[in-house]
Amino acid sequence: MFAQLDLDDELCRAVAEMGYERPTSIQSLVIPHAMEGKDILADAPTGTGKTAAFLLPVCQYLLDYPRKDDSSTRALVLVPTRELANQVYEQAVAITKFTHLTCGVITGGINYGTDRETLNAKVDILVATPGRLFEHIEQESFDCRDIESLILDEADRMLDMGFSSIVHQIAGEARWRKQSMLFSATLEGKGVRNFAEELLKDPVTLSA
Ligand code: AMP
Repeated sequence: MFAQLDLDDELCRAVAEMGYERPTSIQSLVIPHAMEGKDILADAPTGTGKTAAFLLPVCQYLLDYPRKDDSSTRALVLVPTRELANQVYEQAVAITKFTHLTCGVITGGINYGTDRETLNAKVDILVATPGRLFEHIEQESFDCRDIESLILDEADRMLDMGFSSIVHQIAGEARWRKQSMLFSATLEGKGVRNFAEELLKDPVTLSA
């Protein structure tokens, strides 16, 4: 049961409303380690419940350690595609429904005015595709220095799509983060291994 994972009632209520009765196997594996603040390297394809596996511990951390000024984005989720960004964003909105946490999404294909509104709102959890986010970093309309949690979702696809260098640069900007998690449908291959070695600190490796 989700309550046994030491999640706040507000989060348990949200997952119950979303129709989640019990954690999936990747959620049972990831959530306790992530809640201890460990970096995570997880082999979890779509359909395993990987999104909630990273969103729930991130939300719990943000609730446990509120910031006094409340003035910047604290968790960044990078995903390869616009479609996935919107799916992750929708889950984040549903999971935070009974909390004060705020969420936003930045992807290519949306006008810059809308992006600026999202960035100016200083949402707690930002979901983004790397290319568009990097444009905002270059234009100084987004600053990663206050990011505490960085999540790379579908890292293998981000590599396949040629985002390696941009993801590294974004991770470099977010260098004061406390935790990083990398999810990938496969941990095979040099690319994902290199990504993990360079971006994660002493990670716990888990498989769905
Ligand atoms: P994901 O692998 O994160 O893309 O999730 C796949 C689907 O499973 C999504 O529709 C989720 O809403 C759903 N899901 C995630 N966790 C659970 C759970 N614990 N119980 C039932 N459905 C879930």
